[in-house]
Amino acid sequence: MISISKLYCGGTAESDGLRYGHGGQGPAVGGGAPPTSRTAAERRPVTVWNVTRTCNLRCIHCYTDSEAKKYSGELTTEEGKTLIRDLAGFEIPALLFSGGEPLARPDLLELVAYARSLGIRPTLSTNGTLITDETARRIREAGFTYVGISLDGIGEVNDRFRGVGGAFERAVRGFKACVAVGQRVGLRLTLTRHNFANLHGIFDFIEREQIDRACFYHLVYSGRGGQIAGDDLSREETRQALDIILERTEDFHRRGLNKEILTVDNHVDGIYLYMKLLAKDPPRAERILKLLRWNGGGLYSSGVGIADIDFLGNVHADQFWMHHSFGNVRQRPFSEIWTDTSNPLMAGLKNRRAKIKGRCAPDICKWFDACGGAMRVRADLVHNDPWAPEPACYLTDEEIGFTPEKRELVAARGEDFPLPAFSRPPQASGAPPPRPCTGGAEA
Ligand code: SF4
Repeated sequence: MISISKLYCGGTAESDGLRYGHGGQGPAVGGGAPPTSRTAAERRPVTVWNVTRTCNLRCIHCYTDSEAKKYSGELTTEEGKTLIRDLAGFEIPALLFSGGEPLARPDLLELVAYARSLGIRPTLSTNGTLITDETARRIREAGFTYVGISLDGIGEVNDRFRGVGGAFERAVRGFKACVAVGQRVGLRLTLTRHNFANLHGIFDFIEREQIDRACFYHLVYSGRGGQIAGDDLSREETRQALDIILERTEDFHRRGLNKEILTVDNHVDGIYLYMKLLAKDPPRAERILKLLRWNGGGLYSSGVGIADIDFLGNVHADQFWMHHSFGNVRQRPFSEIWTDTSNPLMAGLKNRRAKIKGRCAPDICKWFDACGGAMRVRADLVHNDPWAPEPACYLTDEEIGFTPEKRELVAARGEDFPLPAFSRPPQASGAPPPRPCTGGAEA
């Protein structure tokens, strides 16, 4: 998770602009992040709990393949509380209640109140469509520190993506209801070819609706997201999307609009941001690069700084690794499962530097220390090998220092993984180019 507003535009502590990581063994370079002496195996993860698979929407990129029906075998209230006690004892930094649609679970607020009583910081990931004024008040009272509402475009674009008409209007109602009761709330949006062409319109919406925080997620090809991998942005489109995000975030900052804009699920964004910053403010760019290296990018994300527990109690490296479980909390406490490195994938994720291959290997990519090979789950889903190169890396061979000599070395190692078919040039996509930034809040 990279805070574009903090890293690119400055402001408060730059080190706050990176989440989950903290690979360094001391204070952050140039910032005020807390020192840590924990090894990767000892660190405590921000934990996602998919409390239910049930959902009132049917989003085409849903990683849990959820529908509006009751699923059997989900953790009961008492099993949920046992899990929460273990998580509290394990001292996780935050618990993200997710789904499905978590608000579809009747005992959600009881579980949240229990987590709060044990000192856990709860956050909510929701489609927002079930949040009425009364629900917003109850969410606030339950003590959520943050509510993230998912949208995937404006109006009909969102509704097509979400599979249900009227979803956009109901989610906007949810935003307004949260704001009205003083609940901290933000927007979550997954970048695809469906919304790329209207990215400026989404920024206009953020300003118009006075949304203080927005997270732009890169697509991960899990669950139903696997069926739309071809809707992922091409490398060139991803760069264009990042250019718009940087430009519009800077514009917010210049006009004194206090908004936090973040990108999530592709650590390459940190390198891209650094390269852009280098052209305008070299000293600041170098500070940011040191910070990115200290943080380690993907090195300390899934399996280290992020964990997932699904509706049935299965433990995963993160919410996109549903196809691989390390155990079930009904049989063993999460804290035991998470620290057991007898599983080769768990051991590898906690010490992945020696395992990552090809274009991403530490002796091949010059940005490895700052990017960490990004998202291993995408490599696993595309290449059936968690240590293969990140298929969503949008930097050129030249930019990562992938010289002909290094290419020969990679080939000799048998690590020359082909580009996925959907990583194609933008002219094949049919998506219109984004319009130029107008720098303001238009309707
Ligand atoms: S090649 Fe791999 S390690 Fe290098 S920037 Fe791209 S994703 Fe990161």
